[in-house]
Amino acid sequence: MIAKEFVIHRADINNHCPNCFSARGMVFSFIQNQKENSWMIRTEKEIQEQLFCQHCSQEIYPGSWDDAIERVYAYQKKCFTPMRSGIKLKKKGKIVLGIALALVLGGLSLWLSLGNVWQ
Ligand SMILES: [Zn+2]
Repeated sequence: MIAKEFVIHRADINNHCPNCFSARGMVFSFIQNQKENSWMIRTEKEIQEQLFCQHCSQEIYPGSWDDAIERVYAYQKKCFTPMRSGIKLKKKGKIVLGIALALVLGGLSLWLSLGNVWQ
């Protein structure tokens, strides 16, 4: 499985950093994960939020956010649409699923036709 991270929304905000009090360089990132193998791509529903201060190069965890940051966070959260979560089959996965379905249907029709012979 290959794990990929997609930054689906990124915003520079003008709030003060709780660590270094700089008003510049705070960046909100909203990240969604995808896992991929040769059969399928699975998009996770969960969205990771990250607030990073480029001034002091530290991640600011939700515990140290002040009210202003919380308000900006609530606003930024409405500014994007997440990727649809779920499983998407790749070509190889579709072919195998198709063969499996064909085998099941073929077996079922064979079973039905044999059943009719025995009656
Ligand atoms: Zn900082």
